Amino acid sequence: MHFPSINSKLPHVGTTIFTVMSQLAAQHGAVNLGQGFPDFPMHETLTGLVDKAMRDGYNQYTHMNGYSLLREKLAAKVAALYSTKINPDTDITITPGGTYAIYTSLTTVLQSGDEVIVFEPAYDSYIPNIEINGAKAVRIPLTYPVYSIPWDEVRAKINPRTRMIMINSPHNPTGAVLSARDMQELSAIVEGTNILILSDEVYEHLIFDGLQHESMLRYPELLKRSFVCFSFGKTYHCTGWKLGYCISSPQLMHEFRKVHQFNCFSCDTPKQVALAEYLNDTEAYKTLGTEIQAKRDYFRNKMESTPFTCIPSHGSYFECYSYAGISEEPDTEFAKRLTIDYGVATIPVSAFYQDRKDDKVVRFCFAKKESTLDMAIEKLKLL
Ligand code: PMP
Ligand code: GLN
Repeated sequence: MHFPSINSKLPHVGTTIFTVMSQLAAQHGAVNLGQGFPDFPMHETLTGLVDKAMRDGYNQYTHMNGYSLLREKLAAKVAALYSTKINPDTDITITPGGTYAIYTSLTTVLQSGDEVIVFEPAYDSYIPNIEINGAKAVRIPLTYPVYSIPWDEVRAKINPRTRMIMINSPHNPTGAVLSARDMQELSAIVEGTNILILSDEVYEHLIFDGLQHESMLRYPELLKRSFVCFSFGKTYHCTGWKLGYCISSPQLMHEFRKVHQFNCFSCDTPKQVALAEYLNDTEAYKTLGTEIQAKRDYFRNKMESTPFTCIPSHGSYFECYSYAGISEEPDTEFAKRLTIDYGVATIPVSAFYQDRKDDKVVRFCFAKKESTLDMAIEKLKLL
């Protein structure tokens, strides 16, 4: 039988590490601290509101830019949190997840030959999303082990082809968080240029140790050149909802919507109706960071009884640990052995580097029930 041949648009890309490690965990009955998703139930008020929305008949297409009341509530939240005025009609679009918001932002602006500065370790969708648009990722490693941005190197890599800088804070996989000084550096670099910013802020609320989230939304001068991407799935512990949103300037958002309307058009209506209602409770998102920090602290404390060395996380669902004192194996081999022989799945951090840079670090997801974390630690103690 003859199969038509195609030229792959992503010839070097395999299956994402999250799927690989989750499958391996399932196959070997391992505790899955790899892929980033909570195993505790999401808030019942929110599931109840989805049920109500469906029963109330909100089951047809909503506006292509998102349910308008939800956009209004988000604009009110942005004003309260970041003292920035967002126009819900022109500046916000609801998307089927944060990943889609990132992909659409890149597809909206990238032309063949453009360069995009990406800091590694980088969330694994970024570089394929750049390359599928014919652009080039210019990779800059964050400074190990604090994973800070080497701004001098950024300045050195800027040239007339630089179209965009991608930022992610709180950072996946490391939990590093940008400071006000970082924002000053970024502002100084882009001022007076045509450089755009993609700011992945899906862990906006999952920030610890009393740190302030340095959102692009706090900085009007940066916001006018930014696509700022969020995920309801991460915020409300319902990653399976795949619902998010993008905030930008009216000019950029106008173009974003041209791409969005022919790829997705509109997103899940009942969930948007439920979220609009849920956002009336302006206290609900204020405790999210504290709740998840308690899990980080619980996990970190218990990890002291294992031979891993902590690389402290200040936000996100994740904390990275060095296993350099345990083994010299490459991190993918180590992570596989940990899953198969010890029953705990993690993510090898080399998967977040295109050249597979291996610092002997694995990422653990601590957004789990205490009993799950306990089970994993008991197994890790045997190392
Ligand atoms: N960016 C980062 C850094 C993430 O960790 C995630 C989590 N999956 C996303 C984007 C995408 O979120 P979503 O599941 O809403 O697509
Ligand atoms: N963001 C999650 C993580 O980093 C997983 C998302 C996915 O599986 N694509 O683990």
